[in-house]
Amino acid sequence: MPDDNRYSRQSLIPGWDQTTLDNSTVILIGVGAIGSYVATILASSGIGKLVIIEFDSIELSNLNRQLLFREEDLGKPKAEVASKRLKEINPEIEIEFYHKKMEEVKASVYEKADVIIGCLDTFIGRRWISSMAIRVKKPLILGGMFAFLGDVQVIIPYKTACFECQPLVPDEELAQACTPFGEERKKDRGEEEEVEAKLPAVATLSSIIGGMIAQESLKLILELGAPLENYMFYDGLNNATTIIPLARTEDCPACGELYKLEQIEFVAHPTETIKDLMLRLALTYGLEKPDLMVEGKLLEGKNVVENQLKEKSVAYILDKNLAKPIKIVIKIEKL
Ligand SMILES: [Zn+2]
Repeated sequence: MPDDNRYSRQSLIPGWDQTTLDNSTVILIGVGAIGSYVATILASSGIGKLVIIEFDSIELSNLNRQLLFREEDLGKPKAEVASKRLKEINPEIEIEFYHKKMEEVKASVYEKADVIIGCLDTFIGRRWISSMAIRVKKPLILGGMFAFLGDVQVIIPYKTACFECQPLVPDEELAQACTPFGEERKKDRGEEEEVEAKLPAVATLSSIIGGMIAQESLKLILELGAPLENYMFYDGLNNATTIIPLARTEDCPACGELYKLEQIEFVAHPTETIKDLMLRLALTYGLEKPDLMVEGKLLEGKNVVENQLKEKSVAYILDKNLAKPIKIVIKIEKL
């Protein structure tokens, strides 16, 4: 291979197949601190297609670590500016961008990915994209940071622990944000636009975590080495890396074997209202405001269980925190 080829040096790596990379699609959600590094690495490595999903716009306080942006970009959509800069870095790759929230992007877009990457700063966001990855059966890499601390998780649907399987999901009170600023963020909820939490962030951590994520995605696409098994915590101040091999749980509501067999049973009391039943489901599955659908119809909260459900009903729980409804069997308790 002549040395003037853009990819000649990486192609020297045993097992590297540039054609496979050229035919692959990566979806990147969040092109802020970590996402900027992931995108730059994947673009310069010659990923075939990069789909960027990011609803945020550029602010001055982003510029200490979001290396794709300049002062002249202030106020512009991150997705659009990042796409333009990445095209300058490597005109050979295809880029598609959505200046939208990930929940507003159709499942058909996620279905086309070889790898989905979520650089998201909230547990709720991670939970949503984890359930979408399971729905479309695509590998997902999650990463986050806080000051000199960072984490990376690689989720291979139905093979490794998903976001719901593992015990790192805090209860709903803590789930608003993966930071001590959660309460502040919670107060802001309900307003039109969610206010960005002011998290301590430095470029060294975004480059390390972004580099890890990009490396894991290249490994998955090229089938090189072993994927991260499956949660890594990094402490930059103490140079400590902890890898926690999380196990799948068979009663996981998102990917568990019992769930697949529709054997998760939830017992309803005949005289309770649908609203009370939904409240118990919300507490059990850590949801915000679930709806219950049986035979294609949403149930009315004020109705009583025994008038709405059969002795055993297959039901779907829908919630804005879930991309994939939870399917369960509701059994009415015999008095
Ligand atoms: Zn799971």
